[in-house]
Amino acid sequence: MTKLDQIKAAESRLLLSTYERNPILFVGGEGVHLIDENGTQYLDLLSGIGVNALGYSNPVIEQAIARQSRALIHTSNLFYHEGQAELALRLTERTGLDRCFFANTGTEAWEGALKLARAYAGLRRSEGANIGTKFLALEHSFHGRTFGSVSTTHKAKYREPFGPVVPGVDFVGFNDVADLRDKFSKEVCAILVEAIQGEGGIRPLSQEFFAEARALASSTGALLIVDEIQAGMGRTGKWCAYQHYGIQPDVTTLAKPLAGGIPLGAMLCTEEVARSIHAGMHGTTFGGGPLACAVAITLIDHIEQQHLLEHATEVGDYFQKRLRELARRHDSIVDVRGKGLMLAAELDSADLAKLTVAEMLKRRILINCTSDTVLRFLPPYIVEREHVNQAIDGLDAIFTEHAAAHSALPATGGH
Ligand SMILES: *Cc1c(COP(=O)(O)O)cnc(C)c1O
Repeated sequence: MTKLDQIKAAESRLLLSTYERNPILFVGGEGVHLIDENGTQYLDLLSGIGVNALGYSNPVIEQAIARQSRALIHTSNLFYHEGQAELALRLTERTGLDRCFFANTGTEAWEGALKLARAYAGLRRSEGANIGTKFLALEHSFHGRTFGSVSTTHKAKYREPFGPVVPGVDFVGFNDVADLRDKFSKEVCAILVEAIQGEGGIRPLSQEFFAEARALASSTGALLIVDEIQAGMGRTGKWCAYQHYGIQPDVTTLAKPLAGGIPLGAMLCTEEVARSIHAGMHGTTFGGGPLACAVAITLIDHIEQQHLLEHATEVGDYFQKRLRELARRHDSIVDVRGKGLMLAAELDSADLAKLTVAEMLKRRILINCTSDTVLRFLPPYIVEREHVNQAIDGLDAIFTEHAAAHSALPATGGH
């Protein structure tokens, strides 16, 4: 029995079966590559679902972890430490928002945003405003797995087994301005969007839809809350994806790459909205601990010193251009979309998408498939053109083989 087989057998006895893992045992990583138990390298175009912004074994991250772990790992939020204000300053400057709450994960940051919206609506009602408690979320949305987050997540498979979920959430057709206008009313306390949907298939909001959401929310004092957990922190070439649209939210959430692989989430809001939160109303034991904050500060400074936003834009544009060329040669690619290093190629069949991920894995390239038919690329920000070329060559070979195999099949009749 290999070590992987032993682990598989143990997990199948001991863990809840929440994941369908790929049969690989990773033991290390270097730059944009992961390394398995046999020393085989894999080009990682997924970066732990958008987390490992600086790739693997980055000495700057390692040193920050070592330094802070020798000084202080945890204090609780009952005391001060040096990291939170320093990190909050960096995040408020880069998001255009005023105040920050630190959590541990994406879903927990999002829960904070939902609670804040309800608290703010309550404050406004106490001041005489006519505003309700409903949320408008979007078709294909993904905001996490805890109860509030999953209640605002569109996919029925994630929500329905756990019903009744949190009430008061209505879903609006994706980029459907008429549906948004129709469903918006004074009952709504917040409109919830991802500027570029991640899990839902790398779907960017249209300028028109996003602008209408901003205008409607402002017309009643409802909040526009933008989930930047996957798209934010530089992945799209700007600190936040909403900055590509020139639209400013009232609240945003960050997580995945925020602390270079150490769990950390953040919820940011305006001074006006922050009025609704007082000591004791919300909190967390671990959130914004010294270790995670120190690493996040280091990560932000490193991204800036190394001009990684510009790099993400440059390599991302190149990657997208290569995918578009590929789409012109292969009919099975029906759409290419995304921004910076958050990219997708949508295929015409779920089976082919699944097959492509498996075939890329055989070529030692990691990508994934989301929303059934969408190949998703979330490489580390340090990815180079040569890695893009390797991925494009792999995809080209797979689609060419697939097309050849299909045209060789005898006609099955029917059309
Ligand atoms: C991943 C993700 C979440 C949830 O984050 P977790 O850290 O997995 O809880 C929420 N929103 C978006 C847009 C995400 O991509």
